[in-house]
Amino acid sequence: MKIITSIFELNKEIKDYKNIGFVPTMGGIHMGHKSLIKASQKKKSKTIVSIFVNPTQFNKKSDYKKYPRNIKKDIISLKKLNVDYLFIPKINDIYKFKATRFVLKKKDKILCAKFRTGHFEGVLNVMNRLMLIIKSKDLFMGEKDFQQIFLIRKFLSKKFNARINSCPTIRTANKIALSTRNKLLNKKFLQKASQIAKFLIKIKNKSELYSTKSNLNLSDFKKELEKKFEIKVDYLEFRDEKNLKLNNFKNKFRLFVAYNINKIRLIDNF
Ligand code: AMP
Repeated sequence: MKIITSIFELNKEIKDYKNIGFVPTMGGIHMGHKSLIKASQKKKSKTIVSIFVNPTQFNKKSDYKKYPRNIKKDIISLKKLNVDYLFIPKINDIYKFKATRFVLKKKDKILCAKFRTGHFEGVLNVMNRLMLIIKSKDLFMGEKDFQQIFLIRKFLSKKFNARINSCPTIRTANKIALSTRNKLLNKKFLQKASQIAKFLIKIKNKSELYSTKSNLNLSDFKKELEKKFEIKVDYLEFRDEKNLKLNNFKNKFRLFVAYNINKIRLIDNF
């Protein structure tokens, strides 16, 4: 595995981007990331992984500071996976050039965009920069961050003529979606997160039985979740998979959730 830390080096090293798959990450490599890498390796002859904890997508400085980082361990994991290139850019390199700024319209300010002001603007900003640098036509991203995939497809896919290959959420045996942020939770809170996931899977399964989801009162479930698990739920909503609109249950839909547990914000969808 070749470790690359500058744009200059990257351009020298990778001449043919045509057959390279790109897996952007913020590190803390886990089985979720590994599944994206495997998907890329299956489809493409080379794979590049980036590790960049992007400051502009954190709406709280404290969250950025405490975001788990362990580059040494990540390098070992990625080497084992036979990743071809690992790109670890510096903040200055990513932000030293001028690039498009993205502004979300009102209709996009739903789910996490409503609760994390500026978060997706930061995500689009960094993804636009990374895609300008790494000219891959195939990106591999997780459905765990469903809204992220939705917005990147909407704002960047066409611009770069790139495909966003979405990969299913990888969970632990007790149903918690793998996430680097889970490292910030102790056993007690992880157990709670597992119970919450199981509770939500039940709601989702139940919802499949109804013809109109209006029969299912999510605000009651939201209250129940908050009380039972002593958490603050930002949102609990059924949304259309294609356009993320509310209450369009003719098409495939998902149950989206974001909640704060012991001051750590977790998101998931089922
Ligand atoms: P992150 O390092 O958290 O920014 O995530 C990097 C990529 O890994 C994103 O495309 C995420 O959606 C994806 N990812 C994170 N967790 C999971 C998971 N549990 N299953 C599948 N993909 C994931």
